[in-house]
Amino acid sequence: MIEKLHLAIAQATAPLEARHAERMRCARGCHACCVDELTVFAVEADLIQRHHAELLETEAPGPEGACAFLDADGACRIYAHRPYVCRTQGLPLRWVEEQDGEAVELRDICPLNAEGEPLAALEPADCWTLGAAEQHLARIQAAFEPETPQRRVALRALFKPSGS
Ligand code: SF4
Repeated sequence: MIEKLHLAIAQATAPLEARHAERMRCARGCHACCVDELTVFAVEADLIQRHHAELLETEAPGPEGACAFLDADGACRIYAHRPYVCRTQGLPLRWVEEQDGEAVELRDICPLNAEGEPLAALEPADCWTLGAAEQHLARIQAAFEPETPQRRVALRALFKPSGS
């Protein structure tokens, strides 16, 4: 189920990446959004553990201050199985919040990708809208661990002590 969601996210973000190719500076080695305090739902941690058991047992986490999965070149060591939160970074993001009883649309983008057409001028369909995927992910986690439907795991905590 989690693999299906990741695939659906990849298919949904591909046209947005193409639409914004000129402004996006995201590339191997750019890791400004790969911060150290990321946590993921247990179901995404399980995906990483299943596919990268050897890495987690034999390799050391990256230095504190950035994501433990970055390698010395600033590339992600689990890229194919990176969590949802890593899959939409860099795109123009939009979400709706209730403020004083009214629904307000907010937008944001990585400062490295800010140059170009103003965010406010973009059509909603040209942004990644937060909400639906997060709800889908939460349902997958609830089905994965009904007793602890909110359980999250720090990415750095996935490394075995012997690998550090
Ligand atoms: S898992 Fe990979 S893409 Fe996500 S923050 Fe860590 S290094 Fe970056």
